[in-house]
Amino acid sequence: MPVDAFKIYTEQLRDGRVETITETFASDFLDVNEEDLTFTKPVLVEGEVYLAGEDLILHFEIKTFANIPCLICNDKVLVEVYVPNFYHAEPLEQIKHAVFDFRELIREAILLETPSFAECNGMCSKRKEIKKYLKESGKDEGYRPFADLK
Ligand SMILES: [Zn+2]
Repeated sequence: MPVDAFKIYTEQLRDGRVETITETFASDFLDVNEEDLTFTKPVLVEGEVYLAGEDLILHFEIKTFANIPCLICNDKVLVEVYVPNFYHAEPLEQIKHAVFDFRELIREAILLETPSFAECNGMCSKRKEIKKYLKESGKDEGYRPFADLK
């Protein structure tokens, strides 16, 4: 994967040219290694970039997966992170040397879309055990005159 895959050369987009982006990036550019959040799967970016007036327009579909702990059992869960319609307009006058690096935009879009908790397969198998436990412990509350005799 060339490092320059994140770069857009705006001069090449003059005269209404639309550049199609279809890239798969290794997840390390996201640079996230939290205990509760890691990214190990590739990041897919598809879409197009073009100029509109004095702006560079980026229009992407972004897909990857995040590893976050299950809310119930704390196992790592692979959760899809999908940004179907990412849109960004960058004023050309703010782009230095006519080269725009969209790495940070993708990173932000993914982090914004990443849920802060998950559950195994949408329904953790440990949930039943926890429910049972909650129910039983609920029973223990209230007046129990012979509890001390056990
Ligand atoms: Zn779980």
